[in-house]
Amino acid sequence: MKTQDSLPHTETDNRLSELTLLYQLSNTMLSTIRLNKLAHLILTAVTTPSSNLFERAILFLRNEKTNVLQGMLAVTRQSSEGLRIVGGHDALGSRWDISDEIISLQRSDDFCLKVRLTRIEIDRGCPLVYQVISERALCQSDEVQCQRCQACSFIRPLCGGSFAAAPLVARETAIGMIVVDNPDSGRQISSNNLHFLQLFANQAGMAIENSMLYNRLEEAHLNLSEARERLSHGERLAAIGEMAASLAHELKNPLITIGGFAGRLLKSLPVDAREHRYADTIVSEVGRLEKMLSEILNFSRKPTICFSNCNLEDIVRECLASCTTAFEDHNIKVSFSSDDQPLIVSGDAHQLKQVFLNLVLNSCDAMPEGGKLILTLERTHLDRKSVIVTIEDTGGGIPKEMQSQIFNPFFTTKHHGTGLGLSIANRIIINHFGSIETHNTEQGAVFTIILPLLE
Ligand code: ADP
Repeated sequence: MKTQDSLPHTETDNRLSELTLLYQLSNTMLSTIRLNKLAHLILTAVTTPSSNLFERAILFLRNEKTNVLQGMLAVTRQSSEGLRIVGGHDALGSRWDISDEIISLQRSDDFCLKVRLTRIEIDRGCPLVYQVISERALCQSDEVQCQRCQACSFIRPLCGGSFAAAPLVARETAIGMIVVDNPDSGRQISSNNLHFLQLFANQAGMAIENSMLYNRLEEAHLNLSEARERLSHGERLAAIGEMAASLAHELKNPLITIGGFAGRLLKSLPVDAREHRYADTIVSEVGRLEKMLSEILNFSRKPTICFSNCNLEDIVRECLASCTTAFEDHNIKVSFSSDDQPLIVSGDAHQLKQVFLNLVLNSCDAMPEGGKLILTLERTHLDRKSVIVTIEDTGGGIPKEMQSQIFNPFFTTKHHGTGLGLSIANRIIINHFGSIETHNTEQGAVFTIILPLLE
């Protein structure tokens, strides 16, 4: 009697089993669009005991920008249990599925972790990589004497014995490679299995490419939605700004008149008279209102940036120097650290200083009883060379329910606040092609600014 896992005995059985697997792969590809799940399904299908093909499979994908093969996933015989066959009444109509639990088990497997840390430079001179990626040819380890090859330092630590590698081809380009071997039994890879690997890799390549295209499409869609949201936010801001500007303009002249007369009154009244105190209050309150109006006019004015090469460290140091009195008044200890190399950005030094001033003074307001302010400038390489500025305080942080509002104009929790500091800072940073975000630590708030670096 034949059990489900027993080997097919005849050539016809073999062919039938291969065709069924390939058919199930097509069905699976048509119903799996997520790259992550697809990769797990593909590798699990060729290593699962019931397919009796390979004992281990490794997936590398090519990073086109860096021309490096990145280890993405590895599935071993031990971690390949758990492939489910779903749908359809017979083998041909069915497809594979895998649970999230098995996926995370496979991800945390030691061998898989080792593979995920592996990077192979395609142009490094390894004959195997050249054959698979550049010539898009299936390749066996013996053919290129991989074990003695000096150029590659990846395959020997990963695969001790004989193995085979197949290119994943899509639109006539190799987008990655699948490596298979039999480390448990030490069995050589048969020519039948090699033939299957070739067919299988062709289909897998197309499926992975489709999935990556879908991911890119989804990402582009998300970016588009965000851009639309920013645009409508910008339109709302412009409308608020226009209204605020005309109001501020109307208020400015009478306020100057009131301030002027109150000042004259103040001078003419005896210092110990009650009226002197009243006039004094009018003068100081008018002063506060004038400051507020000039902030509103600043906010609503069309920003013009005078771009020049600025040293960010110098700008931050200047800002800290301007705040010395505030630090002393609030009993705030300041620590500042910067990169060893100069951090040069293209921007408007005056406006950038304004950003740091707004953030630092907010931190001072948040720590009326004293505290610690930590500023750091750190070089980083995201999509491009950038600098990350962090401003961290110990003022208790920003309540969660307020975090989405603090960058909106006129949002303030302060008695004398205008609610414009952060929205001005945000606009300046966006105009400098950067971003600004905030989060809380246990002790306070952290503002993180990312700006593109010139060098
Ligand atoms: P304003 O300082 O005039 O209130 P801002 O736009 O600068 O306007 O700040 C908006 C609000 O964000 C503040 O009123 C405050 O509630 C909150 N906020 C800003 N920075 C901090 C900080 N470092 N810690 C706690 N809250 C902060």
